Amino acid sequence: MAQVYDRVALIGLGLIASSMCHAMRRAGLVGEIVGYARSSETREIAREIGLCDHVFDSAAEAVKDADLVVLCVPVGAMEAVAREIAPALKHGATVSDVGSVKRTVIDAVGPYIPDGVHFIPAHPLAGTEHSGPRSGFAELFDNRYCILVPAQNADRSAVDRLSQLWVGMGSKTDEMDAEHHDLVLAVTSHTPHLIAYTMVGVADDLGRVTDSEVIKYSAAGFRDFTRIAASDPVMWRDVFLNNKEATLEVLGRFTEELFALQRAIRQGDGDHLHDYFTRTRAIRRGIIEAGQDTDAPNFGRSNPRKD
Ligand code: NAP
Repeated sequence: MAQVYDRVALIGLGLIASSMCHAMRRAGLVGEIVGYARSSETREIAREIGLCDHVFDSAAEAVKDADLVVLCVPVGAMEAVAREIAPALKHGATVSDVGSVKRTVIDAVGPYIPDGVHFIPAHPLAGTEHSGPRSGFAELFDNRYCILVPAQNADRSAVDRLSQLWVGMGSKTDEMDAEHHDLVLAVTSHTPHLIAYTMVGVADDLGRVTDSEVIKYSAAGFRDFTRIAASDPVMWRDVFLNNKEATLEVLGRFTEELFALQRAIRQGDGDHLHDYFTRTRAIRRGIIEAGQDTDAPNFGRSNPRKD
């Protein structure tokens, strides 16, 4: 595939940034990849494993000559990073991000973007519960959507170029406005994570079932909750603090449905339960048919890094 950008700077060198490095290299999409991470420990690891062509000790130095800058830090850290890099951005460059929430990131980063620099927020819908520069792999984005959230007056050629990069990394791309993105993700990702965190917390609290029983018998459904609930606490704290309204709306609906199911169980209303589970089974089938998961018992996650 042809080169899309000469120089890409990744700010933050965790799971998403390191996966981008591998995916960009796999397809020869960029001339040079440079990076910056907050801690000297992460920068050292990135140098040691040759993640980028060059790792800088400051974010401003890293973005200086970049054609594309991607902010790969937790949502709550985006503003401070944008403030720091703004004076060093090259005229004509594009700034993007990979944050899991879009409205608050746009409000936090947008004001710092200088005239002559394009700002095109994005969110790859792919991840694992692992973090850090060693956790990335080239296949993370394969066949997964990356949602671009450009402003209405965004430069079309800059948007198309960013889309080309994500397609080159294996993704399919779509465009959405920020509010709709945040609602969709509250349904498909944020609330399910909260439910998983809760279920794992409940199992831990329930004195009559021992910890060793929970671990031993977890394959019966609980295991997938624990995988999700092992996700990075900082990232997920920031997601909930920044997608407050949509998550609370979905949680409100969830609580109502849960009460209805609770009542059906108490009253022995098997029809209600059966109808409900029939409807949800069809949703699962739709996801498999859309190629977004597999029917395998391990959900297709044979690679331990993806598990
Ligand atoms: P990660 O593996 O935990 O890496 C985060 C990186 O950000 C690290 O390099 C870390 O630096 C840096 N960082 C953390 N706090 C910072 C701060 N206050 N200031 C500056 N840098 C800071 O995270 P990730 O999974 O790649 O997530 C990065 C972004 O992608 C987040 O916005 C997340 O919402 C989004 N995202 C994640 C997933 C997922 O499943 N993981 C999926 C899609 C999108 P140090 O290592 O030096 O601490």
